[in-house]
Amino acid sequence: MPASAKPAPDKLSVPQKALRKLGLVRPIDLALHLPLRYEDETRVVRLADALDGDTVQIEGEVTQQEVSFRPRRQLLVSVNDGSDSCVLRFFNFYPSQQKQMAVGTRIRVRGELRGGFGGLTMMHPTVRAAGGALPEALTPVYPTVAGLPQAYLRKAVGAGLAQADLSATVPPEILGEIRGKPLWELRKALAFLHHPAPDVALVQLEDHTHPAWQRLKAEELLAQQLSQLQARRARHRLRAPVLPSQAGGLHEQLLAALPFGLTGAQRRVGEEIAQDLARTQPMHRLLQGDVGSGKTVVAALAACVAIDAGWQCALMAPTEILAEQHFAKLVDWLAPLLEARGQRVAWLTGSQKKKARGEMLALIDSGEAALVIGTHAVIQAQVKFRRLGLAIIDEQHRFGVEQRLALRNKLSETERAGDDKQVAQEPHMLMMSATPIPRTLAMSYYADLDVSTLDELPPGRTPVVTKLVSEQRRAEVIERIRAQVAQGRQVYWVCPLIEESEALDLSNATETHAELSAALPEAMVGLLHSRMPPAEKKAVMSLFSAGQMAVLVSTTVIEVGVDVPNASLMVIEHGERFGLSQLHQLRGRVGRGAAASACVLMYSAPEGGRLGETARARLRAMAETTDGFEIARRDLDIRGPGEFLGARQSGAALLRFADLQDDAPLLEWAREAAPRMLDEFPDLAARHVDRWLGERADYLKA
Ligand code: ADP
Ligand code: MG
Repeated sequence: MPASAKPAPDKLSVPQKALRKLGLVRPIDLALHLPLRYEDETRVVRLADALDGDTVQIEGEVTQQEVSFRPRRQLLVSVNDGSDSCVLRFFNFYPSQQKQMAVGTRIRVRGELRGGFGGLTMMHPTVRAAGGALPEALTPVYPTVAGLPQAYLRKAVGAGLAQADLSATVPPEILGEIRGKPLWELRKALAFLHHPAPDVALVQLEDHTHPAWQRLKAEELLAQQLSQLQARRARHRLRAPVLPSQAGGLHEQLLAALPFGLTGAQRRVGEEIAQDLARTQPMHRLLQGDVGSGKTVVAALAACVAIDAGWQCALMAPTEILAEQHFAKLVDWLAPLLEARGQRVAWLTGSQKKKARGEMLALIDSGEAALVIGTHAVIQAQVKFRRLGLAIIDEQHRFGVEQRLALRNKLSETERAGDDKQVAQEPHMLMMSATPIPRTLAMSYYADLDVSTLDELPPGRTPVVTKLVSEQRRAEVIERIRAQVAQGRQVYWVCPLIEESEALDLSNATETHAELSAALPEAMVGLLHSRMPPAEKKAVMSLFSAGQMAVLVSTTVIEVGVDVPNASLMVIEHGERFGLSQLHQLRGRVGRGAAASACVLMYSAPEGGRLGETARARLRAMAETTDGFEIARRDLDIRGPGEFLGARQSGAALLRFADLQDDAPLLEWAREAAPRMLDEFPDLAARHVDRWLGERADYLKA
């Protein structure tokens, strides 16, 4: 086979496949695969000078070898280096090793030294023949996966480093200085990080503060900023329908029909959105606001602007319950106004009957449905909009990149079928989230997004008091429920996901439901879980919404959107198993009315033990603050951006080296550098993005 021919995927060896799995395909990918840590094999020490717990390399003569059977079969080899002796202990061993360590042989041994009554020992050390040159640099240890031995990976990385084009992509005038010092060259930084000199301060390498690391992190952040900026500029070249606000239209009618006046924040954000809608470029805006801050009304008002301008609006929510809630509320508000104009609201969900769905599709296709509300069903291929002008996504973080892209494409689909437009058109996009994004995340992952924030709650809310209660006080918690119910209040009881098993999850919720039904014979206790048929869920929800059902036991299906102002107590079982943002969302279901409300976080320590430090920090944070921004910030601290971003990043490139908190100065630099790079050095910018992101660049754009 000629050297240039690529082997077919099924011909790849196990380590080759593992390299692919790690995304190490091009020489540059290998060159940028950096060590996790290092081993110092550059020196041989005397046993007499080494300390208990040190990882050391020694050289000496084998003085004794035996296979012992107590407490279990093991090979014991004694080595003397002239200063002291040490016993090597192997529980798995081969005849070849016994031969390698025959009595009288000189060997070089590397491992962790343990002192004790029986003298010095090493467990499963690395052994080779003594003598031979010592390496001059530290030995890198790379992140790897099963089937990819370090030795193989080291060779591959070495080859990648030799072959990769490492010429500079960041010109000196952009690079400048960071923290008052010029940055290292990329080539020098990489050579150093793969094979550092033994006298380097290992701490600096391990905590990534070394100048070589600074260079790599700066490069990585720049690549991320460049790709986001490219996406933003590409979007600005697109066209969207111009949706000007009109006096005397639906917008004003809705304002007049609402039972309350808007908060200052709602007015300001509504204005920001209206300005975007009146432009020829598609809006790409995130509306963030704490649970209960009133995002739905803002969305409804934006929908009015689009409808007034003669276009359709789609509203997509991640669950049927949430979609249903929007539907109920928007229908209350909008349907009478729309009907007076001969227009309709259409409804699309996965569980819909074929006939009903057909009718809805026809309404959407004809353009009679001015407003379309639903779940993922909205983006299915059969759904053809007549004139989609505005797409709104609630709880946007629960949707994946592909789903958002599909919604964006819904307009060009229809326009292609109709008149032949020259420039591709996209609908305006409004994304909503109750999980505020911390500033550093917004600056990096969401750089292609304009952000509006509802930072004010509607008046008349009472803050929710949060209590941490041990599972052992379950009976007291049930008494508290009884007291609330006696006052005509309603209660949520949330059961967690157990070990990711839906079946167990369900049986647990069912048991709790039985327990509470028995303990509270005076109250109607309902059960809601994700496996229930939608019609049943709907029936349970409407009993609870109407106030007939006093207690609702549920799995986390109620997480988003449920709005029952009379609910004043929420009990969350195994609070320690939830993420902070999730707890915050759940807690937001109470405190929606004027009554004093409480959230009880029940926790149980693992059998016989104490609750872990992380779990405790999480629960404490919940009790200490009700500010969604503060909670999001702590959540990011505790969990890191990977989990925080959730579906958005499915399979996508997260930052590998840079840390958004520690490297804020580098992030600021990259943000300023990116537009200059694109304007003044577009070719270098393209090479830089390709070098760092390769095929992953697309993921960061949606
Ligand atoms: P979220 O931001 O969590 O989606 P909602 O839009 O569901 O919040 O609003 C929460 C509740 O507050 C709803 O019952 C809504 O009708 C009500 N609401 C919204 N805006 C106001 C306001 N300006 N004054 C009073 N109540 C409001
Ligand atoms: Mg909402």
